[in-house]
Amino acid sequence: MGHLICYAVKANSNLAILNLLGTGGSGFDIVSGGELFRVLKAGGDASKCTFAGVGKTRQEIEYALQQGILCFNAESEAEVRFLDKVAGELGVKAPVAFRVNPDVDAKTHAYISTGKSENKFGVAFETIRDAYARAAELPNIQLRGLQMHIGSQLTSVKPFREAVEKVGTLATELKETHGIEFFSIGGGIGIVYEGSLASGGPDWWQSQAEDEKPLTIEEYAANLEPLLKPLGLKILFEPGRFLVGNAGAMITRVLYEKRGAAKVFKIVDAGMNDLIRPALYQGHHDIVPLKEPAGDSLEKMDVVGPVCESSDFFAKDREL
Ligand SMILES: *Cc1c(COP(=O)(O)O)cnc(C)c1O
Repeated sequence: MGHLICYAVKANSNLAILNLLGTGGSGFDIVSGGELFRVLKAGGDASKCTFAGVGKTRQEIEYALQQGILCFNAESEAEVRFLDKVAGELGVKAPVAFRVNPDVDAKTHAYISTGKSENKFGVAFETIRDAYARAAELPNIQLRGLQMHIGSQLTSVKPFREAVEKVGTLATELKETHGIEFFSIGGGIGIVYEGSLASGGPDWWQSQAEDEKPLTIEEYAANLEPLLKPLGLKILFEPGRFLVGNAGAMITRVLYEKRGAAKVFKIVDAGMNDLIRPALYQGHHDIVPLKEPAGDSLEKMDVVGPVCESSDFFAKDREL
């Protein structure tokens, strides 16, 4: 039994951070061969790595098998058949956990919601038992666990509860039928972006909004532990954003001010390629000047990057 944290590397793959987490005993949830390479470079342990993602290539699978990862979190039966083939060619067995799509609504932005039946992720809850039965017939597959991840930036514990209740029963059943050892409940704990610089920013800075309520780790644990404990399985967690999201800042410089017919634009030397959240799903980030400006007047403006896309912005109509 017990548990293992598998830090979702895509949240921040900086080598120093990976080293810090690995040294502290953390495992890693990776989504590419490149991320596995980084984890190993940072001194991480391959046998604590889970490999997620709907589109694993042959090259990545071979590399992960050679390094001896803990598990492939498989997202389709076609993938498991391919894992079986590649493992057979290398003369090894591929450790596998299916990712189940529990069809629960995480109530987060559509682009970071992953646990509904219309999402591309995981195997449908209704067909997962058959998927395990068919995978058990494959000679080079070793069924080790069950995994789920319903989305990111969740600020309520309810969807987690709902998913763990639904999938927990399935996990105990698969322990009986296929001898699985672990149940991974994914990541997804949200953080506060609005006003997040209130404590970390310059001391004259006052947060504009403090009403965004985070889901605390205590509430998460108090709700989920009673559901997980009776399962008698090792529990894996895949936090990403929660561990690093509020620790980073992007520093950029204003290149030009442009007073347009309808708006004021501050054009900066960073773009959506450096920080994609605002462009991709209207993510909010606080913006703070590094040097206190001379005046104290506020004006509404758009803060935009140099990329040739109208979605290349960091803030719209923000009082700065
Ligand atoms: C992104 C991701 C995570 C981490 O999500 P956070 O919201 O950053 O905690 C965990 N598991 C999988 C499979 C992911 O794709």
